[in-house]
Amino acid sequence: MKIAQQKVVKLHYSVMDKDNNAIDSSFDNEPLEFIVGSGFLIPGLEDALIDKQAGDTFTVEVAAKDGYGERHDGLMQAVPKSMFEGMDIEVGMQFRATTDEGEQTVVIIDIQDEDVVVDGNHPLSGIDLTFDVEVLEVRDATEEELAHGHVHGAGGCGSHHDHVHDENGGCC
Ligand code: ZN
Repeated sequence: MKIAQQKVVKLHYSVMDKDNNAIDSSFDNEPLEFIVGSGFLIPGLEDALIDKQAGDTFTVEVAAKDGYGERHDGLMQAVPKSMFEGMDIEVGMQFRATTDEGEQTVVIIDIQDEDVVVDGNHPLSGIDLTFDVEVLEVRDATEEELAHGHVHGAGGCGSHHDHVHDENGGCC
């Protein structure tokens, strides 16, 4: 079976930047499992999967714009230190913040006398990535999976270890 929209794909991947620095890998962990077209993967990687099948291995280079996006300086901003009153803050700390773009993960990149500089860019934004992929399994999604927009484990909805529902998806 070839990979197409709405198929469930299970794969292993490793990813590195263009200087061959390893960034992440699933090979020592659980494989990724997801529905193609559900927005789970970055577009450049998903495009490369189309028409592949179980057993295929391939390498694909994904430019930042097809990956986690370009960096936007506008997503860096200084906020008054007083907003962190009582918190033990340090550079590199991540937290959720409500911004003009909605809920975002931001990371503290600088702590000054009066201000704290936070960065809302994805840590992998602006980086051209190279993925090594091994396709393990391709199958049709069930009606329930398509309705929920995510993969269900062997025990049905709720059995998957990183099962996430939006407000409207609630089955569990
Ligand atoms: Zn579900």
